[in-house]
Amino acid sequence: MDHALPADPHIEIRQEVAKLCAKFPGEYWRNLDRDRAYPTAFVRALTEGGYLAALIPEEFGGAGLSLSAAAAILETVQAEGCNGAACHAQMYIMGTILRHGSPAQKTMYLPKIATGELRLQAFGVTEPTSGTDTTSLRTFARREGDKYIVNGQKVWTSRAEHSDLMLLLARTTPRDQVGKRTEGLSTFIVDMRAALGKGLTIRPIRTMMNHNSTEVFFDNMEIPAENLLGVEGRGFRYILDGMNAERLLIAAECIGDAKWFLKRATDYARDRHVFGRPIGQNQGVQFPLARAYAQMRAAELMVQEGCRKFEAGQTPGEEANMAKMLAAEASWAAGEACIQTHGGFGFAEEYDIERKFRETRLYQVAPISTNLILSYIAEHVLGLPRSY
Ligand SMILES: Cc1cc2nc3c(=O)[nH]c(=O)nc-3n(C[C@H](O)[C@H](O)[C@H](O)COP(=O)(O)OP(=O)(O)OC[C@H]3O[C@@H](n4cnc5c(N)ncnc54)[C@H](O)[C@@H]3O)c2cc1C
Repeated sequence: MDHALPADPHIEIRQEVAKLCAKFPGEYWRNLDRDRAYPTAFVRALTEGGYLAALIPEEFGGAGLSLSAAAAILETVQAEGCNGAACHAQMYIMGTILRHGSPAQKTMYLPKIATGELRLQAFGVTEPTSGTDTTSLRTFARREGDKYIVNGQKVWTSRAEHSDLMLLLARTTPRDQVGKRTEGLSTFIVDMRAALGKGLTIRPIRTMMNHNSTEVFFDNMEIPAENLLGVEGRGFRYILDGMNAERLLIAAECIGDAKWFLKRATDYARDRHVFGRPIGQNQGVQFPLARAYAQMRAAELMVQEGCRKFEAGQTPGEEANMAKMLAAEASWAAGEACIQTHGGFGFAEEYDIERKFRETRLYQVAPISTNLILSYIAEHVLGLPRSY
């Protein structure tokens, strides 16, 4: 009987992405980080390589790859010390157009998103007053003839200054006029190039890492009615439909981060000699690394299980949520162990560890915070009463 495990089906993709990433070493990212600048050359290279179009079907000009292949791309980007946060949304936001767009919208947008001619990597959901309570959002799109007039505000709209289009979630029927709070919300494709200065204002937010996030203001901004996606009032459902893929891809990025931290830390622990022996010979140094490795592997298996279910046409809500939480915790544990292993040098910019440490912390908060994942598991998996 052959007990050989199947070979990694994405080994070639990983090798090619790693080769591309080698052209963008730590120095490239450190310089951008210092200026809070956007990694234009890196994003262009990924786009030209076709990687950001991985999930777009071939009939629309994409690579038509599986979710696990897309996960392998993003994991490798992170494991090679780069930062996919600059462009990962170009991979998955288009899923809402693919699933809920009209044939005309698909033909109009998807081929251009696939080539990178159109950048769809801004996702306007979070608002300052509603936070995680998405259905309480206040941005309102009022229908007037053949257009919608939008008023309101979004916060943490990442990459808005580096995107041509935004997927916007806005209320179209007041909350007190719908049976369920999840109803009366709609999704739109906003052409930000046309709207900028005409009701659309974007203001960058400086954050502890280089994330190009912004706040966005809508003041009587007009959207042509033809830019509504799917049926008016069903937008919340459409956003939920994309979340499992998004969570699995972000989890894959965290796995990549964890692998980067563990590689750096174990290399250093073998080489660095203190008291006449490698520091990695001390169990006090070994154990946090071994624990983080175990956490990373468990999370990696959960990502694979989520992708497997997704690709089989099932809904991996449980796996996607658990993968995102476990992977974000594993990357943080690995980052913490990596800094500690490096002693003082963990804090030196030129080692890149403090940068990756800041970058990976985000994923316990965004795109969904750990508490909300625990609430999901408690309610939807364990059958406990809803807590909020
Ligand atoms: C750098 C960055 C980039 C982002 N990019 C985007 C983007 O591109 N598009 C977008 O729409 N959003 C984006 N976000 C927003 C992100 O999704 C939210 O920050 C996140 O969902 C948490 O929402 P909040 O910040 O409003 O926190 P809040 O909802 O105010 O929550 C604050 C804290 O309270 C906890 N909490 C709240 N309610 C409960 C409860 N019922 N039970 C237990 N704990 C609770 C939360 O877990 C959290 O820890 C980004 C955020 C950041 C920081």
